[in-house]
Amino acid sequence: MKLGIFGGTFDPPHKGHINAVVSAKESLSLDRVVVVPAYISPFKVKRKITEPSHRLEMTKLAFDTLFTDISAYEVSKGGVSYTIDTLTYFRKIYPDSAYTLILGTDAFLGFDKWYKYREIIEVASLAVVSRNSDDSEKISERADSIKNLCEVFTVKVNPISVSSTQIRENPSEYKDYLTENVYEYIEKNGLYKK
Ligand code: ATP
Ligand code: MG
Repeated sequence: MKLGIFGGTFDPPHKGHINAVVSAKESLSLDRVVVVPAYISPFKVKRKITEPSHRLEMTKLAFDTLFTDISAYEVSKGGVSYTIDTLTYFRKIYPDSAYTLILGTDAFLGFDKWYKYREIIEVASLAVVSRNSDDSEKISERADSIKNLCEVFTVKVNPISVSSTQIRENPSEYKDYLTENVYEYIEKNGLYKK
């Protein structure tokens, strides 16, 4: 089985995330994708983030009808969420799967700063999804420099340029970038109010 892993803070999950998962699945013929909201990203320890239970719930809503599984592994474990731990956990449960980590441009460009990234690429390939239409040159330059260490796939995609940061600033302005159920959840729970 070819399993994709897509981690993130998902504060909130948006159509760029969904596009990344759908495109990676098609482009790489993945059998399933596991979406894993982080308890705390190692790169966001100093930032105020929304309660994990809300982010987990919104992630379930956003990916609702897709071929994905939403994993509560990192949220339940607590503490700083390291991808190598998550990957190790899944490899124990599904030892016969081939693993592909799905990453947006920024995550891929910063990947060499990740905790134990060399161990990650020993057991997983990388699938990179553009966030903006002019990302491909940066991606291919970096892919060239690490392709002797692991397999890097560039996902064919029509990028959706949006970030959770923009949405948190003004959810109603970015409504079109959210699934309806996530927008309703934000409203109902009074999230991202200043
Ligand atoms: P924030 O602005 O809070 O950092 P974000 O939009 O970057 O939020 P994250 O939860 O940080 O979302 O990202 C999780 C993963 O999704 C990362 O690999 C990131 O690169 C990727 N990603 C985020 N937005 C997009 C997008 N619009 N298109 C493709 N990939 C994306
Ligand atoms: Mg981000």
